[in-house]
Amino acid sequence: MQNKENEPMHILVTGGAGYIGSHVVRQLSQMQDIKITVIDNLCGGYFDSISELKLLFQSDRFEFLNVDLNDFGRVEELFKDSKFDGVIHFAAHLQVGESVLNPLKYYMNNTVNTTHLIHMCQKYEVNKFIFSSTAAVYGEPSKMPIRETTPTAPINPYGMSKLMSELVLQDAARANQDFKYVILRYFNVAGASMDNSIGECHIHETHLIPLIVHAAIGKREKIMMFGADYPTPDGSCIRDYVHVEDLASAHIQAWHYLNEGHESDVFNCGYGHGYSVKEVIDMVKRVSGVNFKVEIALRREGDPAELIADNLKIKNIMGWKPKYDDLELICKNALNWEQKMTKKGT
Ligand code: UDP
Repeated sequence: MQNKENEPMHILVTGGAGYIGSHVVRQLSQMQDIKITVIDNLCGGYFDSISELKLLFQSDRFEFLNVDLNDFGRVEELFKDSKFDGVIHFAAHLQVGESVLNPLKYYMNNTVNTTHLIHMCQKYEVNKFIFSSTAAVYGEPSKMPIRETTPTAPINPYGMSKLMSELVLQDAARANQDFKYVILRYFNVAGASMDNSIGECHIHETHLIPLIVHAAIGKREKIMMFGADYPTPDGSCIRDYVHVEDLASAHIQAWHYLNEGHESDVFNCGYGHGYSVKEVIDMVKRVSGVNFKVEIALRREGDPAELIADNLKIKNIMGWKPKYDDLELICKNALNWEQKMTKKGT
């Protein structure tokens, strides 16, 4: 894959050491004629992912820089020095609860820093931008599945900070015909790479599947089920859990899509069906063989009963072909990964 100057395409990946970013970089490593610069401030995530990723590239095709996006001077230097062909932007804070307690942390990083990054792209004529967004922009829609045309109405600063960045991106693209974006709205990502080399590792874990797995391997005493009185068949919340490898492949598709000269657009990224919290707990019990303790707790504030993606758009327009739509596989991968982390003492 070469740019106009017949040089390898050079992609800037922000947050490329993180959970989803590292899986995308890993898949990009399989593409010929591509150079990657990862910037990450290593404020969360699995630090060893960078050494794993380095192994996949020839040294002149991969560069890692510890850069914080709020260092505007450093970010601009980078754009001045490197002729990027595109940006895949992951770096963001992602905890809903924290965003309610500390909204400005979210608006500063997720919105202000993203706005600056978009500004840099336009100033230095970097015309392809893939943005990692979230189903949280929809808030609590009453009609399932959620289509891209479902009105956006975030119910927390995390979702709002992402939606604001989407709007900035859309306005920026409207004013500059050369600049094209793909916005991917993720549903619930889970699992680890098939070879167990990279996976999820948040410093403060709040997500369901890793927490259940922690209970299964004895890293925590029990799992709390937040609410058993929702209007769902078993009373617990339903989510659309997507394997991280499939989510990563959506970014590769998006990169091809932009390179083929298609128009900017927004796509949901989910499987189009979901599982309840109880079903996920039962699956982890089955694959681990451990009957860990489950406690029913009060509902967590701001949790909608059900979030399911309508994924026809990404499949039909971008040709996304998910390969791992299998809750058992997702839970097995998550379990293997956590067992490896525990052995390493992480
Ligand atoms: N959940 C739960 N116990 C936990 C963590 C999460 O019951 O310890 C539930 C949560 O209420 C939601 C679902 O699991 O219904 C998925 O939550 P997660 O935080 O993984 O993702 P979200 O859907 O909030 O993005």
